[in-house]
Amino acid sequence: MSGINRRQWMRRVGAAGVSSVAATGTSAKGQEPGNPPQAAKPERLALEDYQPKSMLHVTETKVARSRFPVIDVHTHITIGARQKNGVTLGEEISVLASPDDLLPVMDRKNIRMMVDLTGNYGKGLEEAIQRFQRPHPDRFMVFTEPGWDHFNRPDYSHWQADEIARAHQAGAKGLKVLKTLGLYLREDVTSGRLVKIDDPHFDLMWEACAAFKMPVAIHVSDPEAFFLPIDRFNERFEELNNHPDWSFYDRDFPSNKELLEARNRMFARHPKTVFIALHVGNNAENLASVSECLDRFPNMYVELAARIGELGRQPRTARKFFEKYQDRIMFGTDAVPNGTETPQQVLSPKLYEIYYRFLETEDEYFDYAPAPKPPQGRWQIYGLGLPDSILRKVYHQNAERVLGIAD
Ligand SMILES: [Zn+2]
Repeated sequence: MSGINRRQWMRRVGAAGVSSVAATGTSAKGQEPGNPPQAAKPERLALEDYQPKSMLHVTETKVARSRFPVIDVHTHITIGARQKNGVTLGEEISVLASPDDLLPVMDRKNIRMMVDLTGNYGKGLEEAIQRFQRPHPDRFMVFTEPGWDHFNRPDYSHWQADEIARAHQAGAKGLKVLKTLGLYLREDVTSGRLVKIDDPHFDLMWEACAAFKMPVAIHVSDPEAFFLPIDRFNERFEELNNHPDWSFYDRDFPSNKELLEARNRMFARHPKTVFIALHVGNNAENLASVSECLDRFPNMYVELAARIGELGRQPRTARKFFEKYQDRIMFGTDAVPNGTETPQQVLSPKLYEIYYRFLETEDEYFDYAPAPKPPQGRWQIYGLGLPDSILRKVYHQNAERVLGIAD
């Protein structure tokens, strides 16, 4: 038999359900002569158990250290200790790691500095600064957060602006705003109607940040798929199925578009305030729209945290984005030392290696997170292979400029 051997031929015939074999009397076991053989029934497999291994034989580059020193502008080494309905209450913080835990990893991975965004305010903020920034000013930087639990006091606007001044005095280098604003904070803090991102009560806070040259790292909205039904068409079905509370579909939530528009009105109203729009402007699925915003708002920057899964599955578009906005993109991971259910966030050497591989190599079709299966969606990513000039800016130069760090 030309090209294929007899066994392969038999298998083909069987798979095609052709009855000629049975008709000759050499039927499959249990098959009545004259009846077609039964095709083997495909095995049923739960989606969560499906873990296909890629058969591609392509280059796998291990990037143990970044080519240039890194400033990770998005980490959570401390976080507010008490939360209700998605809103941090009170000043206390939980400290998730110590400098002694982190510095060896930072040295090994070429991380010059970590920015701890969630330093809370008041006593908690002072503690975070005391533990990290004061003893290691060249390795850690701490941001403050709004005191959401004060939101419904009558003098909130002024109180919050004064609190920014106090935080600045205490040593905070910027302000972090979680997606609490827009998705969780309500008129009575944890109940009532949702407060809008461009609510004028915050105007004095944004202006205070401009006055003290404190950049605002802001998380607005979430992936587009989180605003759609959790069904078989949702590309993040498994993730949302595991975390139904991450869904903002329905109920009284605004749409993704409404949230981003409110943010943009606020950016436009405060041109002197520098905004770091986290997670690639919270719209990594739509780089055309992020580009439009960067063109419109010279006070806007972005960082990469937890979005290399989006960037890396559109490597040609992403590479053009990096070329065009090379002065506006910073390195970030959203790393949390422990206590997180999200595998793409656990602070580990492996996490950093994946980011470096994505930025530095032209490797193809690899995991975007150190997890047994893709945590955000079932796809793989492609490296951007950025040139040194862009890598330097993304790894540290842009952050030095925005955060006021000496080279
Ligand atoms: Zn984060």
